[in-house]
Amino acid sequence: MPIPQQLQPKCFQIEAPPQFAATVKGAVTSLFRTVDFTSGPVLAVAVKDTEAGIEATVRLERHQPWHHFDGEITSPCYDQKDRENRIKERIRLGVKTVLCKAYGIPFSPWGILVGVRPAKLVHRLIDRGFSREKITAILTDVYAVSQSRQELLLDVVDKQRRFFLPDVNNPVSVYVGIPFCPTRCGYCSFAAYPLETHSHLVRGFIKALHHEIEAVGELLRKHRIKVQTVYLGGGTPTTITGTDLSTLLELLNKHFQADQCEEYTVEAGRPETLTRETLAILKTHGVQRISINPQTMRDRTLQLIGRGHTADQIREAFARAAEYQFRHINADLIMGLPGEDEADFAYSLEEIIKLNPDHITVHSLALKRASSFRQNLERLELEQKRGEAMARYAQERLGKTGMQPYYLYRQRYIFGDLENTGYAKPGAESIYNVQMMEERQTIVGLGGGAITKLVSPDLSVARHANPKCPATYGQQISAIIAAKKYQIERHLSV
Ligand code: SF4
Repeated sequence: MPIPQQLQPKCFQIEAPPQFAATVKGAVTSLFRTVDFTSGPVLAVAVKDTEAGIEATVRLERHQPWHHFDGEITSPCYDQKDRENRIKERIRLGVKTVLCKAYGIPFSPWGILVGVRPAKLVHRLIDRGFSREKITAILTDVYAVSQSRQELLLDVVDKQRRFFLPDVNNPVSVYVGIPFCPTRCGYCSFAAYPLETHSHLVRGFIKALHHEIEAVGELLRKHRIKVQTVYLGGGTPTTITGTDLSTLLELLNKHFQADQCEEYTVEAGRPETLTRETLAILKTHGVQRISINPQTMRDRTLQLIGRGHTADQIREAFARAAEYQFRHINADLIMGLPGEDEADFAYSLEEIIKLNPDHITVHSLALKRASSFRQNLERLELEQKRGEAMARYAQERLGKTGMQPYYLYRQRYIFGDLENTGYAKPGAESIYNVQMMEERQTIVGLGGGAITKLVSPDLSVARHANPKCPATYGQQISAIIAAKKYQIERHLSV
């Protein structure tokens, strides 16, 4: 976890076996992102790989060295690949341990795990027949994951297994990216073009999207591939209104039987887009799940982050949506928003619970380089204590309403170095969220910034992204469709 820029060391010299130099540098830059390796204190890493196990040592000049002997890796449940990975994991643990101690940085609650999808690791261990005790020991000893994050992870993983299907390519899920929003939030890094400056691109984008839906629908029918879930995200798909929205949903129903799918979701995050007309269009076209995203119920914060709506507009949107009786409603909430403390977060959570969604996603504020709040990047991950207190509070409070965590993911530059967690009442879990996050099903991505993820039976994933920019998407649509057809057909024929 990084420390503020002014306190960061500027450089290190690495002494390590050449094959591990990149691993050492990666571990250093995961803590100090702008460091270089041309001069400065010597960070020395030594590894002995013997029949008895792996012996690793990390030294940073006058600081206390880290020694570790790993005999457990000699167990017959591991193969040569595991052994090679374990050496790198030991190096990462040693480097982070030494540097955190030397520079007074708290160890991340996620230990040395830096990926977006920590649950994937646990699923892979379960697939290999590892017991719960063994998995717990690995999370503790190898990855240094904190007790609280282990409990969350194992809880989530237990709930996800029932969503995994035997064939990763049939049925698939379809994601449709609509890259427009009413305004752009200060922390946003998604494909989201504000309508006030980009409305002239909507018509061309929709036209191109129709072509893509028709072409991919035909392809899936040709290969008799069914669609389990359809998810419209973005952006905010309900930024598109009236005839454009109706025609889009009709096409999704025609080509993917979206209205007959197990799950049909539309992100309607911005409450000002949820007019009665839009809600009626969603309902009559068979949409079952919508998302109305307050993020916070404090008006001053909503203004500060550029949402362009008030907490009362959220309440009104929920009241309007209730008239149409969608099967499930999600509400997103963010921990760590600028100017907010634990009391603000608790207030927002209470206000949202009163609106009675059956699914709440608790995000930790994550800032990417494209966000307008990026100057806060370094401070954000340091707020571990505050972050963990809020996350604990959310889990306990939502547990009392009957909501349990069932999916999670992490991002870089994230508040408290924590995670984003989806909570649902029993039966309100989103199948798409699980399939997309755990990558156990092929997802066909259509529209702006959509990523197609082609999953193979060995669970390897090939990713192909559409352009984010609606103008580029429109101009390149013929080439995008041709490439997508080729990629999908090649994937299915292997
Ligand atoms: S609503 Fe979501 S996608 Fe749209 S600008 Fe805000 S963060 Fe970005």
